[in-house]
Amino acid sequence: MNDQLERLIKLQEIDSKILAINRIIAEFPLKIAEAELPLKESLAFLGNVKQKFESLDKRKRDKERALDDIDDKIKKLKARTVDIKTNKEYQALLKEIESIEKERSAIEEEILAIMIETDTVSKQSKSEESKFIRDKEKVEALKKKLEGEKSEVEKDLIAVKEIRSKIIDAIDREIHDEYIELFKALNGIAVTEAKEEICQGCNMNIPPQLFVELKKNEEIMHCPQCRRILYFKNSA
Ligand SMILES: [Zn+2]
Repeated sequence: MNDQLERLIKLQEIDSKILAINRIIAEFPLKIAEAELPLKESLAFLGNVKQKFESLDKRKRDKERALDDIDDKIKKLKARTVDIKTNKEYQALLKEIESIEKERSAIEEEILAIMIETDTVSKQSKSEESKFIRDKEKVEALKKKLEGEKSEVEKDLIAVKEIRSKIIDAIDREIHDEYIELFKALNGIAVTEAKEEICQGCNMNIPPQLFVELKKNEEIMHCPQCRRILYFKNSA
């Protein structure tokens, strides 16, 4: 085989490998972001819960204040009994106290309802918090795993690049430049196999005469359709 062609084939193999490694490296942040999604959802939920707690607490305090006011009113009304002279006045006062006490127990019921709601929200919050902790542990484990994988592929990348530079040194400048041009223009595939008279780069048929020449692997030849450098792999 033409030694330049042989090196080009190796260079293509290596560049394809580098592309694949770079794709793997590029996927890591996406995988981490995907894993972190439930954490963000939990944080948003917990943020809402906090607001809910605050609003429930405020409502409770308002009601408690209203309760104090009513207690004051009742106290004052009861104090007035000493000044009462007629039974009629006394009955009227009792009625007033009774109505205010009804109001009081309605407020107490509201406070109880707020406390029950607070309890429910608190349970939801605790369950979400423990979910958050579990998810966070998962994310940390995944990050560790991915970082390990990343440093492995980065090591591979360094090794592969070293081999690449040795190959490039042994390729004629002009041929190398052409390779780079094709590599950039043709989606990272500059050198491809001609298999059963078909260019594996563009899937077009190779004219039979050209294929006969190509099979010898003696010269650098191009696909008439896509211009990729073609070679023939002898299966024997
Ligand atoms: Zn082609």
